[in-house]
Amino acid sequence: MRIGIFGGTFNPVHLGHLITAETLRQDFALDRVLFVPSARPPHKPSPDRIGTEHRLAMVRRAIADNPAFELSTVEADRTGTSYSVKTVEAFQRTLGDEAELFFLLGIDAFLDIESWHQPERLLRLCHFIINSRPGFSFADAYPILCRSFGLSPEPEAARIALPAGHSLFFAEVPCLEISSTRIRTLLGQRRSVKYLLPEPVESYILSHHLYAESQ
Ligand code: ATP
Ligand code: MG
Repeated sequence: MRIGIFGGTFNPVHLGHLITAETLRQDFALDRVLFVPSARPPHKPSPDRIGTEHRLAMVRRAIADNPAFELSTVEADRTGTSYSVKTVEAFQRTLGDEAELFFLLGIDAFLDIESWHQPERLLRLCHFIINSRPGFSFADAYPILCRSFGLSPEPEAARIALPAGHSLFFAEVPCLEISSTRIRTLLGQRRSVKYLLPEPVESYILSHHLYAESQ
C-alpha cells in the first residue's frame, strides 16, 4: 500500500488542496491519501477562531465523494502541539511495514521546514512529495536541502535520494491561486467564495456562520 499523508490546517479546506491531493494520488499511484488536519499548528500562533471540530467536519464533507481520500484525526486527537515527526511515527506504528508512506506538502510549506521540530529526523522517516504552488519556486528548496540536510542535489532534479532509501520528489500540480487565508478574507468581507471550495463546504460555512468576523 502506498499512502499519502497530507497535513494542513485546512481552515477551511479548498479546491487547491483537493486538486493537489488528487493529482499526486494519480501521479504517484497512491492507494490512499490521508488528510490530517492539525490540532494546534506550531507555525500558526494565532489560534484559529473556529475550532478543530469545524475544520474536521469540512474536510469530511470535501472528501466524501472520493473513495481514495480519508480523514485522519490523529493530530486533532493528540493533546499538545502537532509535530509531523510524531504523526509519521504514529502512522508507521498503526499501518505497519506493508505501508509505504509519502509525506505531501506544498513548496511554500517546505520553505519553512527548518523551523519545524526535528526536520532532519523527519526526512529520514518516509518519502516526500513537494508540490508546486503559485508564487513559489522549487529552486528555493535547493539551498535548504544543502544547508540543513547535507544533500547535494543536481539543479532541477525532480527526484532526490534521501537517507534510508527514501526519495524526495518535486511534483507539478495544476496552478490554483486559492488559499484558506484568501477565503477567510472574502468571507469576512461578505463576498462570495463560490467555486473556490466544494459546495458542501461552502454551505457548511454559511449555515454555521463561520469566518464572518475575519478581516
Ligand atoms: P493558509 O492560507 O491558512 O495558510 P493554505 O491555503 O495555505 O491556508 P494549508 O492548510 O496551510 O492551506 O495547506 C496545507 C497544504 O496544502 C500545504 O502543504 C500547502 O502547501 C498546500 N496547499 C494549499 N493550497 C494550495 C494550492 N492552492 N496549491 C497547491 N498546494 C496548496
Ligand atoms: Mg498555508
